[in-house]
Amino acid sequence: MTTSTDQELLSITLADGARRLRDGSVTSRQLTQAFLDRINATDEEVHVFVTVTGETALAEAAAADDLLARGDATAPLTGLPIALKDVLMTKGVRTTAGSRMLDNLVPPYDATVVSRLRDAGAISVGKTNMDEFAMGSSTEHSAWFPTANPWDLERVPGGSSGGSAAAVAAQQCIASLGSDTGGSIRQPASFCGVVGLKPTYGRVSRYGLIAFASSLDQIGPFTRTVEDAALLLQAIAGPDPLDSTCYDEPVPDFSAQLDRGLDGLKVAAPQEFFGDGMDDDVAATIEASLDLLAANGAVIDRSPSMPSVPMALPVYYILAPSECSANLARFDGVKYGYGARGGESMWSDMEATRQHGFGREVKRRILLGAYALSAGYYDAYYLQAQKVRTLIRREFDRVFAEHDVIVAPTAPTVAFKQGEITDPYQMYLNDIYTIPANIAGLPAISIPGGFGADGMPVGLQFVGQRLDETTLLGVANAYEQIARWPTTPSSNVGST
Ligand code: GLN
Repeated sequence: MTTSTDQELLSITLADGARRLRDGSVTSRQLTQAFLDRINATDEEVHVFVTVTGETALAEAAAADDLLARGDATAPLTGLPIALKDVLMTKGVRTTAGSRMLDNLVPPYDATVVSRLRDAGAISVGKTNMDEFAMGSSTEHSAWFPTANPWDLERVPGGSSGGSAAAVAAQQCIASLGSDTGGSIRQPASFCGVVGLKPTYGRVSRYGLIAFASSLDQIGPFTRTVEDAALLLQAIAGPDPLDSTCYDEPVPDFSAQLDRGLDGLKVAAPQEFFGDGMDDDVAATIEASLDLLAANGAVIDRSPSMPSVPMALPVYYILAPSECSANLARFDGVKYGYGARGGESMWSDMEATRQHGFGREVKRRILLGAYALSAGYYDAYYLQAQKVRTLIRREFDRVFAEHDVIVAPTAPTVAFKQGEITDPYQMYLNDIYTIPANIAGLPAISIPGGFGADGMPVGLQFVGQRLDETTLLGVANAYEQIARWPTTPSSNVGST
């Protein structure tokens, strides 16, 4: 049973938590224990955590309390409990990427984002469930179990970072990290009514992220507020000698424009993001959000056209599988992870390893990718997709020459029922509005934008210019402050 004081602690933000830890009105141990209790009370229903690291979390909380008591807590996130998608390497803590292939992987090192969060003082309560190797949009395709949506347990939380989104919505932690290759942060954020940010490609180090599609993958935060997303991004962003794809530029103050407001803001609403394919309830909710933006000083321009944007989804389903077929070649059962043994030869053991270690969707992607890259097809598929990718990038450049941000829906529907989508192509369509930003490498955020059918959350997406997360966060914060949508389910998960 949750007491009202616990209830108040569970809805805390990173910003509030940091203040309250410093003024002594709460301790990190109280906070961490409250979230661990909440995980205990709710995870039978929501199924978020592959691994809970309660003991180390409490030990780290005690250490944080000592620092706080001495006035030595200089790190900004000192003592604040967060969760990590199970695709991020964590030293000494099992890391599975939702796959049988990595059932027994206990990494000997931390991903850069993990060590940066530790340096910033944050405490991890555990590793969250995901679609296998981050391929999926529903978190039904984990090798372990499906995760539920805290707003309606019969529905999916979105994916592939569904565990990290559900953890924040179910109040099992204050914030979390996910990864976004084609929408895997923003779409689950939309389905679970929380904030999800995909930074600019190259803004955050991917060292220690189990790679899916290396020209698209980015790590980013799930939070309850835009202000918190800025704080978490601040902690993880910046150059890393261990990831040569990271920008070398100094990291700006991402909170600098949180109070910028909407006055005179030039917002593009390109036609291709508002065509057929969106459910009526989502369309109505997004329209209401555009009206709200306009009523508060933004100038909405619906005239831009981006004719190549509808090709982003097919381009993605050539490029991402191609890159995944190369990245996943390393899982051969020889050095680490699951390995079949005792066959006739090394080759038959490798075949058996991949046959049994990977799930159906992962195998489908590897096959698609190997086909697109094979001699005779490379020019027609992979090379052609790269050319269209360039066209899409240029269309974004053209729109941003005259506008500050782009506004769009995050997903075409609200969260669907578990088991409802069985056709892979239907599943892929979830990402029609999120994939373009990945293709162009641009920062994009999904924030709560209202409610659609059956009271389910609808996400509103903003896309920003390359490396301009500061403006993006400012605009998102302005909308959030005006709209003030609730970010926790009214249904009381775990109240019994
Ligand atoms: N749903 C998309 C896919 O299945 C995107 C996944 C992701 O962003 N990791 O590939």
